[in-house]
Amino acid sequence: MSAICKRLLRGVCLLAAALLLCPACSRKAQSFHFTYLDVFDTVTTVTVFSESRNDAEALAALIHEELLNCHRLFDIYHEYEGMNNLCTVNRLAGGDPVTVDGRITELLRFSADMGKAGGGALNVCMGSVLSLWHEARERAAADPAGASLPDNAALRTALAHISPDALEIDERASAVRLTDPEAKLDVGAVAKGWAVQKACTLAAEKGYSGFLVSAGGNVLTVGAKPDGSLWRIALEDPKNNGAQLMKVELRDCAAVTSGSYQRYFTVDGVKYHHIIDPDTAYPAETYLMVTVVCPDSGVADALSTSLFLLPVEDGQALAARYGAEALWMWEDGQIETTAGFPKPIRN
Ligand code: AMP
Ligand code: MG
Repeated sequence: MSAICKRLLRGVCLLAAALLLCPACSRKAQSFHFTYLDVFDTVTTVTVFSESRNDAEALAALIHEELLNCHRLFDIYHEYEGMNNLCTVNRLAGGDPVTVDGRITELLRFSADMGKAGGGALNVCMGSVLSLWHEARERAAADPAGASLPDNAALRTALAHISPDALEIDERASAVRLTDPEAKLDVGAVAKGWAVQKACTLAAEKGYSGFLVSAGGNVLTVGAKPDGSLWRIALEDPKNNGAQLMKVELRDCAAVTSGSYQRYFTVDGVKYHHIIDPDTAYPAETYLMVTVVCPDSGVADALSTSLFLLPVEDGQALAARYGAEALWMWEDGQIETTAGFPKPIRN
């Protein structure tokens, strides 16, 4: 055998050995799907591309655990043994500062800042008003025929207790306090998106990439798929019974929708949804849905609710301030988007 042939043969043998030893070359990444029903009262899915089922399971478990922690901390309806959560803070409103986990002070500071940026349309201190709507929705779910609106006088009274100034956040002491005994926190507009961001950041810090988390449609994608292609996200069409409005492609990006069709009840044929204008104490009337796309899922969630409550020009300015793109759909189906909103793709 000639020297050249010998060298070639040795090269081929080395390449074959390298292929055998390199797991990325010898194994193919597959997609794994995990579904959870116990966080934020919605269906959460984690989609992972990985060469190893064990790795995919470990990643999904990590995300699930962090979402569960956030769910318990931000729960305003139940308290849990061994922790002070937002339900505790609400119960102790008007009393001393309550020592809480750092994730609570972080979320509340973030929410307060986002609320201020949007001129107060988003207000996590309006739990007194939101709880009246929540109770009316629960009553309607139990007895649709007997559904009724919250008492208007009670709404007016509650409106006097929604000042964001009533919330004191002490990051140093990791404590929060509501100075108004009648005030209540409700973080429904921000908690899910913020928690998804927190969980995914934790996973990315541990080296995971190539996964997507959707908490009730609050989507965040991290990294690329193994073939380098982008993640395809379907936006629902509220005019068409949840059929697909469009598909967009994302990478390292969140997509969050606020919509009047997502949670509502009906009285005398009129739908009353869950996004409440703090100026009127009644559901905001302008849009059917607003979708926000931006890198941070917490920002996307806060913005989607804010934009739902703001005139479109104010919403455009607010989105621009956070480098976010948005889509508005009006009640008549008319659509407007910011210039950089992802273009719809064909199947
Ligand atoms: P989202 O689906 O993210 O737009 O959030 C809607 C949820 O946010 C509601 O179910 C309420 O819990 C809460 N919410 C409604 N209106 C407001 C508001 N003006 N400011 C803050 N939170 C609100
Ligand atoms: Mg929101």
